[in-house]
Amino acid sequence: MSENCLFCKIANGAIPSKKVYEDEEFFAFHDINPAAPVHLLLIPKRHIVSLADIQPEDGAWLGRMMALVPKLAYAHGCNPGPQGGFRLVANTGIEGGQEIDHLHFHIIGGARPWDKRAAPAA
Ligand code: AMP
Ligand code: ZN
Repeated sequence: MSENCLFCKIANGAIPSKKVYEDEEFFAFHDINPAAPVHLLLIPKRHIVSLADIQPEDGAWLGRMMALVPKLAYAHGCNPGPQGGFRLVANTGIEGGQEIDHLHFHIIGGARPWDKRAAPAA
């Protein structure tokens, strides 16, 4: 827990969120400003700033975090199969577009009718 960290406060319930998943290590919730029909954020409960801080010894918990991604994506509206899928984004650092300094995965997906590639074949 890092004081004044928004995502630490969300993970410990001090700030409300639209939670979709929680276990001992991880917490997932809806992004407050969704960029697509499905836009989840998955965070570790431990405070780690970004992927720039990851070390080889973080591999085990990071692997567990990765394994949650497709489970959460498909449980919360991302479509299965090659026409479906999702996008995984981890903005890292200022030049990487990171605004919240607590590691988070954006899980983005859902049908986007305005995306021509997503439209059914004519
Ligand atoms: P990033 O630019 O990768 O740091 O993304 C931060 C994300 O956190 C943005 O997509 C915001 O919309 C989202 N966000 C900020 N505050 C909240 C909040 N209180 N609850 C849910 N999502 C939030
Ligand atoms: Zn934090």
